[in-house]
Amino acid sequence: MGDNGLSIRATVTDRGAVLLGKNVACDAFEETKPLRVVTHAHADHMVGLRQSLRACKKVLMTKATKDMIDVMRSPLFLMSGLVETLDYGKTIQYDEERITFFKADHILGSAQVLVEDFEGKRIVFTGDFRIDDTPILESNVLVIEATYGSPTCKRSFGIDVRSALVSLVEKGLKQGTVYVFGYHGKLQEVMEILYKAELNVPFITPERVFQVSKVCEKHGMRLGRLMLTTETEAEKLLDNNSPCVAFYHMESRGNVGLSNFRVLVSGWEFGSAIRQTDNKEYVVALSDHSDFDGLLEYVRRSKPEFVITDNFRVSNGETLAKEIRRTLGISATALPKRGNYQ
Ligand SMILES: [Zn+2]
Repeated sequence: MGDNGLSIRATVTDRGAVLLGKNVACDAFEETKPLRVVTHAHADHMVGLRQSLRACKKVLMTKATKDMIDVMRSPLFLMSGLVETLDYGKTIQYDEERITFFKADHILGSAQVLVEDFEGKRIVFTGDFRIDDTPILESNVLVIEATYGSPTCKRSFGIDVRSALVSLVEKGLKQGTVYVFGYHGKLQEVMEILYKAELNVPFITPERVFQVSKVCEKHGMRLGRLMLTTETEAEKLLDNNSPCVAFYHMESRGNVGLSNFRVLVSGWEFGSAIRQTDNKEYVVALSDHSDFDGLLEYVRRSKPEFVITDNFRVSNGETLAKEIRRTLGISATALPKRGNYQ
């Protein structure tokens, strides 16, 4: 084995809970753990949250994540349990363990979790992250996300995706309204990029995207002039196909802006920064996750004795664990085990 029993200090359950030390369950419900952590407000990290609110002693998250969940669900939702917000770098003690959040560069509010156990062992869960602006935590046991955990998932375009995105939207605005589709958090990142590039046009969003954007502004992001799709002025701009940018959740891409200039932001793009998919539709490779090289770099610099790859949320856990063993010589396993991997 060679991991000195370290493997038992963390695991990922069949229901997707990342268990750290004796007390902490991250990102899914686990009845045996008193503390539930929500690393960020994406749905696959809020698994069984209703049960956790009912059953756990405390549910921990950053203030920004709490604000996001309040608008994505309802302000009443989190009131059904004891939620405690924790800032980056602040530690809480529970039992014999210390729990600290650190920033993860992913969406607003995203946290990495460090648990220091009764022996001082450092057990870390990265949550979702992009290596660019994520502090790397040294660890004894590391649980790492594996979204792009295959060597085929490398982004080496050699061009700046953000400026390519700005140029593409500018090109689209010459034809009228540009529709941008993405997930919560990513849409606001696009707004910020376009705002900083001084694209002086109104941004129009439906209610939910608007509310998430307001939370992002409250926590320091700068997004520009936002209008609701229901405002008369916004309706007029959209009806006349005037130059403005409409931001919609990815799930609306089949319903709105079908004949307009369309931009989809997605991390699952490795061939090029921008790919044309239709006459007026483009996919831009703007990711909020590390690519394969970024994941390996985190592991290398974290210097763990033992690594667990999150094999619940994506199918690349096995591949990443194998590559960590092969290229870094560090003991690594994918959890939970799946019946159907090769
Ligand atoms: Zn995420």
